[in-house]
Amino acid sequence: MYDLIIIGAGPAGITAAIYAARKRMNFMMVSKDIGGQTALSGDVENYLGYQFITGPDLAVKFKEHLDKFNVELKVGEAATLVQKDGEIIKVQTDKGSYEARTAIVASGRIPRRLGAEGEMQFINRGVTYCATCDGPLFADMDVAVVGGGNSGLDAVLQLVNIAAKIHLIEAAPSLKADPVMVEKARQSGKTEIYTETKIVSIYGDTFVKGIKAQRGAESFDIPVQGVFIEIGSMPVSEIVPAAAKNPFGEIIVDPKCRTNIPAIFAAGDVTDVPAKQIIVACGEGCKALLTAFEYLSTK
Ligand SMILES: Cc1cc2nc3c(=O)[nH]c(=O)nc-3n(C[C@H](O)[C@H](O)[C@H](O)COP(=O)(O)OP(=O)(O)OC[C@H]3O[C@@H](n4cnc5c(N)ncnc54)[C@H](O)[C@@H]3O)c2cc1C
Repeated sequence: MYDLIIIGAGPAGITAAIYAARKRMNFMMVSKDIGGQTALSGDVENYLGYQFITGPDLAVKFKEHLDKFNVELKVGEAATLVQKDGEIIKVQTDKGSYEARTAIVASGRIPRRLGAEGEMQFINRGVTYCATCDGPLFADMDVAVVGGGNSGLDAVLQLVNIAAKIHLIEAAPSLKADPVMVEKARQSGKTEIYTETKIVSIYGDTFVKGIKAQRGAESFDIPVQGVFIEIGSMPVSEIVPAAAKNPFGEIIVDPKCRTNIPAIFAAGDVTDVPAKQIIVACGEGCKALLTAFEYLSTK
């Protein structure tokens, strides 16, 4: 029986763990990976103390900080159910089950699927959701990036140094990304932008060979070897079925990171807290831990 189980080792979960370790709590962490979305980010220029650092490098810094403490950490393990049974929190994973007096859910977000024909068939065979991880595989090839928000433009700006040509496809009439990013993409001379355009299907044989796109009544093919889907993300909140959620599926928390279930706290991108940013997730992880600690102290 632990005092606390932390689910997720992104910025929110790791911050909670560092605070828990410094308070000498009896706790463990379970997470699919280390670093979460930070490890997938391109260039990070807005995390305090680093004027510039890549996402993967920042994730390494987080891990090094965590390693200073003797934390029981189960990586590569996914929580499937977090529930309260009497006074006990039960965490079911794909490898086992654990019990604690409190839990902090910091499971973050995962990429949203496009829903186009062929998408699932070509995952990891040309279709990808991570430019940072997979961009280098597409050296000197033509690729498509789907989504004209900041994530899409972040992908484009990583790919301009790698791919031969980038087709940026956005369903809305204009790009929603920061103008400075759009300007950089345009200036690269490698990016062709399509607005009001939808992807109907992704085709190929073993690997992707192209996409069928539609703009109004016009449909056309774009030959590409890679398709980077960057159309937002979904919170990993279904693992706590009893938690109250907003219409976007985000776990509702109060300013002290309390959910509607006593002893289950939540932090970071999985919650309804606005501004999905690394620095915010860290702050929320800190708050969640201090609230969990306070909860345990008063019991
Ligand atoms: C492409 C991209 C670029 C970004 N750029 C920036 C930027 O420049 N600056 C900035 O501030 N923010 C940026 N962000 C946002 C930032 O990365 C997130 O706000 C931040 O990582 C959220 O932290 P988190 O800990 O709440 O969740 P996450 O980072 O999503 O971490 C969640 C953790 O939970 C784990 N997990 C998920 N499901 C389970 C499960 N079922 N069981 C166990 N573990 C699970 C994951 O493996 C992961 O370790 C970017 C995001 C993306 C995708």
